[in-house]
Amino acid sequence: MEISALQMEQVNDRIRALEKSGSFYGKKLEEAGIHEVHSPEEFKKLPFSEKKDLRDAYPLGLMTAPEEKIVRIHSSSGTTGKPVIIPYTQKDVDDWAIQFARCYAMAGVTDTDRVQITPGYGLWTAGIGFQAGCERLGAMAIPMGPGNTDKQLEMMQSLHSTVICATSSYALLLAEEIAKRGIRDKISLKKGIIGSERWSAKMRDKIATSLGIELYDIYGLTEIYGPGIGISCQYNAGMHYWDDYIYLEIIDPKTGKNVPDGEFGEIVITTLVKEGAPLIRYRTHDISRIIPGTCKCGSRYPRLDTIQGRTDDMMKIKGVNVFPAQIEEIIGGFAEVSSEYQIRISHLDGRDTMRIYVEALSGHSDFADLAEHIAATVKSRIGFTPIVKVVEEGVLPRSTKKTARVIDERFD
Ligand code: ZN
Repeated sequence: MEISALQMEQVNDRIRALEKSGSFYGKKLEEAGIHEVHSPEEFKKLPFSEKKDLRDAYPLGLMTAPEEKIVRIHSSSGTTGKPVIIPYTQKDVDDWAIQFARCYAMAGVTDTDRVQITPGYGLWTAGIGFQAGCERLGAMAIPMGPGNTDKQLEMMQSLHSTVICATSSYALLLAEEIAKRGIRDKISLKKGIIGSERWSAKMRDKIATSLGIELYDIYGLTEIYGPGIGISCQYNAGMHYWDDYIYLEIIDPKTGKNVPDGEFGEIVITTLVKEGAPLIRYRTHDISRIIPGTCKCGSRYPRLDTIQGRTDDMMKIKGVNVFPAQIEEIIGGFAEVSSEYQIRISHLDGRDTMRIYVEALSGHSDFADLAEHIAATVKSRIGFTPIVKVVEEGVLPRSTKKTARVIDERFD
């Protein structure tokens, strides 16, 4: 998707604001002697913004609007080093709610729906984004926040919640709990809006069938508003994103060069109208691609494919580059196992080894044969032989937040 003249005008307006505020990006441009872009080629030469730049700006170095205009901050979790703080103006907060309401509408949610929100509230952008969009649409928000499954199921039954917003791991946990308690006929859910982590087609099918609901993938990140900058439609053929608020590029993560539409690479996002903390060419480290052509739903908004993983998820085992998504796809091809798995990378006897744990569904007892079959499939499709361990269903950890499926034990 080439940048349009209007989008370029918006970028130039943001460049002026960044230079005026003296933020890191403004300084980068001053140094490069760039004050405007006039063509898609010039745009592609603009320097990238990196997570490190955002961390270095801690606490409020990203603030691009005058302090009296800032009404809120959000922060991304700082698992490594300092957190990132993103200031929002009232317009930013409103724009985010507009985009989020658009997501709900794309999923067919209306003002008569009751929306149970299980993502967390607080410094991060999850819960409050789901809530603001819901209120803007006119639906009833049920702001539960995460955890406390008993209470979640009680409210779901009493209030007849029709929409559930959750991470895929928590949606799966709720689906399993509803089945276990035999309360499916007391649940009124019709749709699930699922965000914030990569999930397999198998897990998706399991949640959708066991709850009997339609599922929608929502996309977003704290640095760029939060969740709600894109969502899948009823055709489940990628996520439509709002190109009147963001400009999205896909680059080769190694060379930094743009790749053609349809090819996978790293998602790079430019905010077009953000005031509090505009970002130009921000490297998300998420891997996906732009899906060419128009969607069956007829929406004019372009589409981003399902997130395939992170550029830093890439593992090198015995000299072969491996993505968790590849392992997941192979596991998904086996009808005998559940959607849950765990990958452990360790350093044994002087070399890197991958162990894959999968759960056999009940009725399958020949674990050794199944393990051998999965290992052989990985060898033939990816090129190395992992150690596969088959365990009983329900043994692998489920969580209320994000489930860690890849554990690197090499540096413990
Ligand atoms: Zn569509």
